[in-house]
Amino acid sequence: MKPADLLDRVRVVLCRPSHPGNIGAAARAMKNMGIARLALVTPLRFPDAEADARAAGADDVLAAARVCGNLDEALAGSTLAVALSARPRDLGPQPRSVREAVGELLAAAAQGEVALVFGNETTGLSNDELQRCHAAVTIPSNPEFSSLNLGAAVQVLCYELRMGAYAGVPPAADPATPFASPPATHDEIEGFYAHLEAVMTETGFYNHAQPGRLLPKLRRLFGRSRLEKDEINILRGILAATRQKTGHGR
Ligand code: SAH
Repeated sequence: MKPADLLDRVRVVLCRPSHPGNIGAAARAMKNMGIARLALVTPLRFPDAEADARAAGADDVLAAARVCGNLDEALAGSTLAVALSARPRDLGPQPRSVREAVGELLAAAAQGEVALVFGNETTGLSNDELQRCHAAVTIPSNPEFSSLNLGAAVQVLCYELRMGAYAGVPPAADPATPFASPPATHDEIEGFYAHLEAVMTETGFYNHAQPGRLLPKLRRLFGRSRLEKDEINILRGILAATRQKTGHGR
């Protein structure tokens, strides 16, 4: 199954969120990571202008969000639910590391629907809510300041799911830079070195009788930069201009 299809089977469930801004932040965090399905269990305020504002461009995630009367409704049809809990609980489901849980979620997503369940900003998840989940994850944050903002917790999990779904190498935005030209070939680079050596010799900078490490050092410098065709043309243009001034032709 394609990574995007796996991520399509993940739903994010927010239990009793009290700040609409966090709902918007969660929607944005989800969409940034290619996750679209949001369920809200008895949100205090929704829809809300603050949620829209914090969602930035993720208004489609908000518009499609399902508002549910209880967690059972939000989890209906799913086969695996992982609870996010800021602190371990006695009566909660089995603890997992973030990455273990992500592995289980993605494996289960190949078969069916899965859910990530987040708690209320002040009280977290209730025991009742926790007991409806199969595993519990605590993000290993600073023990002296361990509770993340709800939207931030959603972001961490959605990022890990994306990394997991794409086996560590998600597609990036087109890396092409506007100035890029094709890489220079071996012969173009050797032509440049020969040109450079000639000019350095003519100007007296390089003495064949005492070569030192100049040429290998220059090769190492240019080798590191993976020269492009345009760059070779610029460098050779500079050399040609220098030669003309020193009366050696081009
Ligand atoms: N005071 C609450 C914290 C709620 S933060 C408590 O102690 O439970 C709101 C939600 O964000 C939590 O219910 C949980 O789903 C998620 N969250 C915040 N910090 C987290 C962490 N370190 N690990 C896992 N989930 C976290």
